[in-house]
Amino acid sequence: MNTIERNLRDIKTSIPKEVTLVAVSKTKPVSELMQAYDAGQRVFGENKIQEMTQKWEEMPKDISWHMIGHVQTNKVKYMAPFVDLIHAVDSIKLLKEIDKQAKKHDRIINCLLQVKIAREESKFGLDQEEVITILNSEEIKELANVRIRGLMGMATFTSDQQQIKKEFNSIGNFFKELKPKYPELEVLSIGMSGDYNTAIDCGSTMVRIGSSIFGARNYN
Ligand SMILES: *Cc1c(COP(=O)(O)O)cnc(C)c1O
Repeated sequence: MNTIERNLRDIKTSIPKEVTLVAVSKTKPVSELMQAYDAGQRVFGENKIQEMTQKWEEMPKDISWHMIGHVQTNKVKYMAPFVDLIHAVDSIKLLKEIDKQAKKHDRIINCLLQVKIAREESKFGLDQEEVITILNSEEIKELANVRIRGLMGMATFTSDQQQIKKEFNSIGNFFKELKPKYPELEVLSIGMSGDYNTAIDCGSTMVRIGSSIFGARNYN
């Protein structure tokens, strides 16, 4: 058994069955993604459209590709033919563009709204009121080729587990409040390598794990 296969097995056995594991493969070569694929993994997350598109072209077609990074409106067209779930949607303008591009391919593209939960100014995302405004907007109801399936959040980059727990609880409670009113909301995407257990305690249904599967990333 290779390292990637062993890591996947260890994570899979430590998380509940209902929680979807997104293998975050950004910066990693196709050969390593294929090791995960051969171990049964079918959901992969990338944060750059060009890299994801290249990997999609080279790899088997039964993979569910998730865009987990910030999306620029003018790049949506490149992933519209194949992307399954876009995690970090933060505007009506972007939803409209996703709808327009999805229509061209006669597809429905699933989206999550990114909620800002971290203390850092730099992190993208909506506040709770903005999420509700989007969910209630008449314009959005007319978009036949996008589906808002849930929420996504990223905690502050810190080793302070209490802080992380506070942030995950805030989005977890918000998700619980929304769910009865908006039955299409099924996904709460929170949790990465360092904090996925805390995220699951706070109601995560989807964890995005990279380095604990593929090892540390080298950005050079
Ligand atoms: C890179 C990334 C992850 C995975 O991070 P790890 O700490 O390697 O598990 C998860 N979510 C997003 C949005 C990312 O960009």
